[in-house]
Amino acid sequence: MTHSRDSVVCVSVDDSDPRDPMAKCDRCGKQGTIARATRRAEPRVTLRFCGDCWPVAWSELRKRQDEEFRRWELSEDDSPQPPGWATSSRSWHDVIEFLGLIKQAEGSAKASGHFAKVAAEISATAHEMSGPMPSEVETFLKRWSTPSIG
Ligand SMILES: [Zn+2]
Repeated sequence: MTHSRDSVVCVSVDDSDPRDPMAKCDRCGKQGTIARATRRAEPRVTLRFCGDCWPVAWSELRKRQDEEFRRWELSEDDSPQPPGWATSSRSWHDVIEFLGLIKQAEGSAKASGHFAKVAAEISATAHEMSGPMPSEVETFLKRWSTPSIG
């Protein structure tokens, strides 16, 4: 068993290494997974996906989660909030999605320090990622990486 990090308040991001070269993808059955989704429910559900399946699998999980949450919001009873999924991946797809979100803040003075930090984090895990670095990520790193790092 791995060390439990339940004491850490962590809503949707699980920062432990999700790669498992021996595990089979829960979607296509291919061996070697780079993404993991864990449902913080009893019993705990853990799904693993390969790099090809992860973008679709995650979008489906998210849809399901949204739907459950919406139903919960509309319900009149005092049932507990549905458990969400914690995810961790080494997929460039997620990096691109994340960059798309933070780029909305581009231009503000506060953002540049944050962007430099994000660039450093991306550089630090780049060698663990599944597949070659997409050009848009490369562009982001070129723009925001501080010369002292790397
Ligand atoms: Zn797969």
